[in-house]
Amino acid sequence: MADAPKRVVIIGAGQAGGQAAYSLRLAGYEGAITLIGDEPAPPYQRPPLSKAYFKGEMEAERLFLKPLEYYAEHQIDLITGKTVNAIDLQARQVEIAGGQVATWDRLVIATGARPRKLAIEGAHLNNILELRTLADVDRLKQLAVPGARLVVVGAGYIGLEAAAVGVQLGLKVTVLEAMPQVLSRVAGPEIGAFYTHIHRAAGTDIRLGARLEAFEGVGQVTGVRIHGGEIITADFVLVGVGVLPNLELALQAGLVCGNGVVVDANMRTSHPDVFAAGDVAWRPLPHYGREGRLESVHNAIEGGKLAAAAMLGQPAPALDVPWFWSDQFDLKLQTAGLWTGADQTLVRGDPQSRAFAAFYLKEGRVIAVDAVNAAPEYIVGKKLVASQAQVAPAELVDKSISMKDIGARALG
Ligand code: FAD
Ligand code: NAP
Repeated sequence: MADAPKRVVIIGAGQAGGQAAYSLRLAGYEGAITLIGDEPAPPYQRPPLSKAYFKGEMEAERLFLKPLEYYAEHQIDLITGKTVNAIDLQARQVEIAGGQVATWDRLVIATGARPRKLAIEGAHLNNILELRTLADVDRLKQLAVPGARLVVVGAGYIGLEAAAVGVQLGLKVTVLEAMPQVLSRVAGPEIGAFYTHIHRAAGTDIRLGARLEAFEGVGQVTGVRIHGGEIITADFVLVGVGVLPNLELALQAGLVCGNGVVVDANMRTSHPDVFAAGDVAWRPLPHYGREGRLESVHNAIEGGKLAAAAMLGQPAPALDVPWFWSDQFDLKLQTAGLWTGADQTLVRGDPQSRAFAAFYLKEGRVIAVDAVNAAPEYIVGKKLVASQAQVAPAELVDKSISMKDIGARALG
């Protein structure tokens, strides 16, 4: 490793930052690694925060990506509970809160994203929560006592996963969604309609096209006022209306940014020795011939691996198509690909059976699949997305033809 760096600093000890550190060591890199995060915990996985951990079925330690000992054993200097305040590209240093500096010859920005805030009257009241960190969900759990009234704002993944757990914990849940459909950012209308039905059947009051006007209360939230004047009573509120990338350090350093830190296929920013990965990165999406910012575990892991390989001058690992999942009640939604831009949606199976899939096509090629309790549709669908193969629509919706056969015919 002749050109290997001597000192790598990683800002953000989350899924992407942790992965970059692990991949460097796995690849045999022997130089210094400093991994700096502003949360108290070591790198941990967030998906269970709105699922098993919220439900009380998982201990915090099980969220950790690696046991604490791993970092000392692998000579990774993990600094937790400290914010990086500035990047100095000239001096090749980062400034850490408290006056410490860390010097690098390769830098990774893996600062993730933060929940978007609602700028409406009453937004400052107590018991209006968000869900990003372990600390957030620990607060949520304290308030989630049976019979309490929870109003969820936003019917994206966060909102719906939390609503499902809330109902299972005995809460009275109302979900307010601005769009006419739930999961509108991530899935098509067929999937949205299915999940609306599932949540309503479980007792959740789902309000679509809801326009928030204010949070009501004195000191503490007691309700949410929506357009038309109705006030929905709340003991606590969870706001899940999307995230904003934590771009400030990159912007201040003068790196090229848009709706994310702009990187190339190797996660290299506009500075040759600075990389970005995870929710914060605006990256090429080769399967779609465009660029974008993804918010998923797969994207964070892939970005961390790509950055590590590029820093060491090693070949880039093979890319996967973007994939996601969501657990709500007994339903496992698995998604491969990105559905926006589809000109045709084909539903395979009957949603009433609670096992079906929506295939999204563009010019006869599958660009994404949403599979609900339907593993074969997901597995083969993902291969169809990756290969950009043509499929016969009539075959795709014909349940008498197995997904294995459909895959074999399309993929040759
Ligand atoms: P993060 O994991 O957020 O890590 C970034 C870290 O950097 C954070 O700890 C942040 O505090 C820290 N940081 C930021 N600025 C600084 C600074 N200046 N100095 C020091 N530290 C800093 N994805 C899926 O694919 N499937 C799921 O089921 C799923 N469920 C999710 C459930 C929840 C509740 C949430 C919140 C997310 C979920 N995601 C899921 C998304 C996934 O967790 C994220 O896409 C992933 O964590 C992104 O990784 P990251 O490293 O980019 O960001
Ligand atoms: P999201 O998927 O962007 O969904 C937010 C939803 O809230 C959107 O439908 C949005 O509609 C709606 N909304 C926005 N403003 C609103 C308002 N004023 N009133 C009512 N609704 C409003 O984001 P999220 O659910 O908050 O999730 C945050 C992050 O966590 C994302 O990165 C997500 O990927 C991640 N996450 C992932 C999973 C998973 O993969 N299973 C699970 C949990 C969280 P518009 O489209 O109109 O903005």
